[in-house]
Amino acid sequence: MDAVVVRACGCADCQGGEDDRVFAEHRRINVLLSRMNEQQRRWFAGHESLRLGFGGDVRMSQVTGLNVDTIARGRSEVSQDLAGRPTDRVRLPGGGRPSVEKKIRH
Ligand SMILES: [Zn+2]
Repeated sequence: MDAVVVRACGCADCQGGEDDRVFAEHRRINVLLSRMNEQQRRWFAGHESLRLGFGGDVRMSQVTGLNVDTIARGRSEVSQDLAGRPTDRVRLPGGGRPSVEKKIRH
């Protein structure tokens, strides 16, 4: 298995090490991002930015290392329900649980 590199948060709060909850939250965000593809990272960071509100793009850029413009784009895409984005999902062969429909037909 490839080693997964989790980015260390670059925000001032985590650098200062004063708030364990913020540190844990930003760590979780970067852990999740480390397992996502480029598009998913953009959307997730955009979602977090929306949650934060004003200044969210800059804040999430500090946390994730993603470009502010990339996060703004992700935020815009998420705001529009990902309209126009491809719907094909990347799945590992044999991965995932059987669909609900399949289970019901047993
Ligand atoms: Zn942080």
